[in-house]
Amino acid sequence: MRNIYDLTLEELEQYFLQIGEKAFRASQLYEGLYKKRFSSFYEMTNISKDLREKLTNTFSFYHIKLLVKQKGDNVNKYLFELEDGNKIESVLMFHNYGISICVSSQVGCNMTCAFCESGRLKKVRDLLAYEIVQQILTIEQDIQKRITHVVVMGIGEPFDNYDNVMRFIKIINCNKGIDIGSRHITISTCGVIPGIKKFMNEKGQVNLAISLHAPNDTLRSKLMPINRAYKLDELMKTINEYIRKTNRRVTFEYIMLEGINDSEKEANELINLLKGMNCYVNLIPYNETENTSFKRTKEWKILKFYDILKSNKINVTIRKEFGGSVDAACGQLRAKTE
Ligand code: SAH
Repeated sequence: MRNIYDLTLEELEQYFLQIGEKAFRASQLYEGLYKKRFSSFYEMTNISKDLREKLTNTFSFYHIKLLVKQKGDNVNKYLFELEDGNKIESVLMFHNYGISICVSSQVGCNMTCAFCESGRLKKVRDLLAYEIVQQILTIEQDIQKRITHVVVMGIGEPFDNYDNVMRFIKIINCNKGIDIGSRHITISTCGVIPGIKKFMNEKGQVNLAISLHAPNDTLRSKLMPINRAYKLDELMKTINEYIRKTNRRVTFEYIMLEGINDSEKEANELINLLKGMNCYVNLIPYNETENTSFKRTKEWKILKFYDILKSNKINVTIRKEFGGSVDAACGQLRAKTE
């Protein structure tokens, strides 16, 4: 049975028309699911008993299970179990501007970036849209507050699960449902070019972030195997095309790895790569994990790197740290419980 949280409003309208009902039933149902947060069709008393019974026999109301919650300073980390027993993580962050969630898009990941914990578990499968939607619903239920911002930056490569991630976005963006504005949604990719090309033709104002982490092919291919398939030159061309077409600013994520990508040489290469682009760079203090030997760049050196970019008119920020007090470094919580 298809999960009811996997359907867009348009699909539900189609469904109702097909069974001889009015299309507005879809809006009623969406309201029950996402505004009133009912947990069964039977609670939706504005729908006739017969129809509720039909829905019960047609769609699954299954919810992913909350297994573990870790609370830190301004950050919660969640471990969920899916219907088939697989486990995924989400991270919740409390900011002064709102509450953001970092959702997973796959069970495991095939990208095998050298510094990343998630990639140690190969992709088991893609998440379905409802499994990403329910990360939000379950956590909102837990904290009794509304999440304001969504980043698809958890475990998995979203552009390796393109259709389900787009379906997820459509569902949470719908104003009859959770209604998270597209400007408050960000997708992060390691540089899957065909995904970026498709994404630039999507409607809406969803933000794009690129995990760059290195300013030249030699280093980037070492750190991120995806770069052997999609080289920097081609990647930058595609991103420039994206910016031209969408008029949107792109974020480049750059993890600071001690002695690897954090010298003046890399700072200058980065400037050459990004000069004049409508973008900004987010310098990320590396979250050290037991399973890699990478170290975090010292703070003074991050600041120096920052200054070099800044004085060359590159928009740059240093990411505020959240994960330290919990096992929030991508994949750590699941790795520990296994
Ligand atoms: N596959 C997508 C989204 C998931 S990774 C992508 O690559 O963008 C989300 C971000 O976390 C990426 O920028 C990734 O490089 C970064 N990351 C992975 N391990 C990390 C660690 N230990 N510390 C800090 N950032 C990390």
